[in-house]
Amino acid sequence: MITDTNRLHIAIQKSGRLSDRSRELLEHAGLRIQTGKNRLSARVENFAADLMFVRDDDIPTFVADGICELGIVGLNVLEEFTLGQDAALEVLAELGFGRCALKIAAPEQFDYQGLKSLDGARIATTYPNLTKRYLQQNGINASVVKMSGAVELAPRLKIAQFVCDLVSTGDTLAANGLRPVETVLESEAVLVRTTKPVSGDKTVLLDALLKRIQGVLATKE
Ligand code: ATP
Ligand code: ZN
Repeated sequence: MITDTNRLHIAIQKSGRLSDRSRELLEHAGLRIQTGKNRLSARVENFAADLMFVRDDDIPTFVADGICELGIVGLNVLEEFTLGQDAALEVLAELGFGRCALKIAAPEQFDYQGLKSLDGARIATTYPNLTKRYLQQNGINASVVKMSGAVELAPRLKIAQFVCDLVSTGDTLAANGLRPVETVLESEAVLVRTTKPVSGDKTVLLDALLKRIQGVLATKE
């Protein structure tokens, strides 16, 4: 990916739950995005910016490294990334979409008695850092099993007794015989910027774009 040094770079999710709303927000801010679906990037026709379409998990890295000055990502993904490291990232705004919660869930038939039920247990998750922090903050001694997907299967496969996963409606949990018992994090999409130095010309672009985005967000409040 060759990046043009005189243009801003904005990282958004390529395809997934945040893609459409992320694009829409930028369009409402007046950016005319060149179309074309299956591409890695798109030029903005009327503003010196390019969009980078990436996996949501890569957005914090791109922004923290300063490869992209801005990004739109779930707070869940961002916090999982920043926990325990000094990442060059700053949250500028909560965007009001992509709402979900990271929850610990137990098998429906399990007699859950509160946090103490988790003591000594195994919890499967794709968010090990957030899960461990929550357990630690609550003085619970449980082990965290990192999975990269299909976390809901873990109890059935006896990999873990509990899971810690993203929930919006709870339908996926219920379909797998699980029910939420604790909330680890309430999440929504956020706008993040790099705290790495941005070159002079680009600072002007960045400020102008941020003003426009803040304008859009203000009308929605
Ligand atoms: P990618 O291919 O980019 O890695 P993904 O499968 O990890 O995609 P999505 O399922 O598209 O990601 O979810 C992206 C983000 O949407 C999540 O990180 C979260 O912030 C938000 N989100 C909102 N509701 C839900 C939900 N019910 N389940 C999962 N994520 C949700
Ligand atoms: Zn992802």
